[in-house]
Amino acid sequence: MKKLCMPVFYILLPLIIPMMVGLTFPRTTSSRISFPFSNKGEISDTITTLNVKTSATEKIPMETYLVGVLAAEMPASYEEEALKAQAVAARSYIISKMGGGNPDHPEAQVCTDPNHCKGWLSEEDAKSKWKTADKNKYWKKLTNAVKATNGEYMTYNAEVVEAFFFASSGGKTENSEDVWSSSRPYLRSVESYGEALSKNNVSTVTFTRSQFAEKLNPHLSQPLDLSKPPSISEPQRTEGGSVSTINIAGKTFKGTELRSIFGLKSANFTVSATDATVTFTVKGYGHGVGMSQTGANYMAKEGHTYKEILSHYYTDIEFSKL
Ligand SMILES: [Zn+2]
Repeated sequence: MKKLCMPVFYILLPLIIPMMVGLTFPRTTSSRISFPFSNKGEISDTITTLNVKTSATEKIPMETYLVGVLAAEMPASYEEEALKAQAVAARSYIISKMGGGNPDHPEAQVCTDPNHCKGWLSEEDAKSKWKTADKNKYWKKLTNAVKATNGEYMTYNAEVVEAFFFASSGGKTENSEDVWSSSRPYLRSVESYGEALSKNNVSTVTFTRSQFAEKLNPHLSQPLDLSKPPSISEPQRTEGGSVSTINIAGKTFKGTELRSIFGLKSANFTVSATDATVTFTVKGYGHGVGMSQTGANYMAKEGHTYKEILSHYYTDIEFSKL
C-alpha cells in the first residue's frame, strides 16, 4: 500500500460530483458507486479483480493487471508510444474507480468484463489469440509499455482523470455531455487524425423495410407503415460529428439510442431509405469520448510521444505518479 499525498477528498471528487448532480456515465456508472469508500485515503498498488471467466476474485499488482488490460483493449501490433498512452489511460481510469466497490460485484474493484468494467486477459489467454511467432514478442511489448510508464496517471485540477477511450472516430472525438449528458472539462471534442486511413473506418448496415420496422416498432407509438419508405429527417449533429437527434417516422431519437437499437458501431452515421431497404453508413467504432486508439496509433507513427498523445486527447491534463 502506498500513502497518497493528496487529500482523499480530491481522489473522491470525480466520484462525488457525479453523484451529487446525478450524472450518468456508462459501464462504471458513478452513481452506482457505493459509500462508504473502502480506501480511506490510500490508493493501493494492488487491485482486486473479479475474473468473469473463472468467477475467481484475485488480488493482482496494479502493474501486472494493466498488462492484461492492454492485451484485451488494444491491438498489440500498435506502436509502442500508443501502447504507453493506453497504459497511462487505463491506469488513470482504474485509479479513478478505486474509491469504492461496485454494487454489482462488491467483492472486487473491477471485473474483467469489457462491457462492465475493463477487458482483461491472462497471459495464457492473451497468447492464445496471437500467432505463434508473435506470442512472446507481443507480451513483452505490452509489459514494456506498462513498465515504461510505471505508476503514471493523469489528473485534472488534482482529480484523477476518468480516462475513457474507444477504437476509432469519424475524424473528431465527442464532448462527454453529447454522449452521456454530463460534462467533464478534460473530455472535449478534438480532431483525431489518420482515422480515415484505417480500412475499417466506415461500415454499412442494411435492413429490409420489415427488419427495420421490427427493430424500431417497440420504440414507436404506432407500428411503421410498411407500404412506403419511412420518413427520415436531416439529423442534428454534435460537435464531434455524431448524430445528436434525428426524426424517424414522426419520433425524435437520439443518435446513441439508434446506435443501440440497430447495433451500429458508433452514433456517427448517415441513414438512407430506398423502396426496399434502409441503410446506415457509420464512421468509427465506439462511443467517441476521450482517446481514439486508432488516432493514438497514427500520432505515434507520426513521431509523437505518449504524453503528447494523451495531452491531445485529454484536454489540459497533468501527469502524476503513484
Ligand atoms: Zn465490473
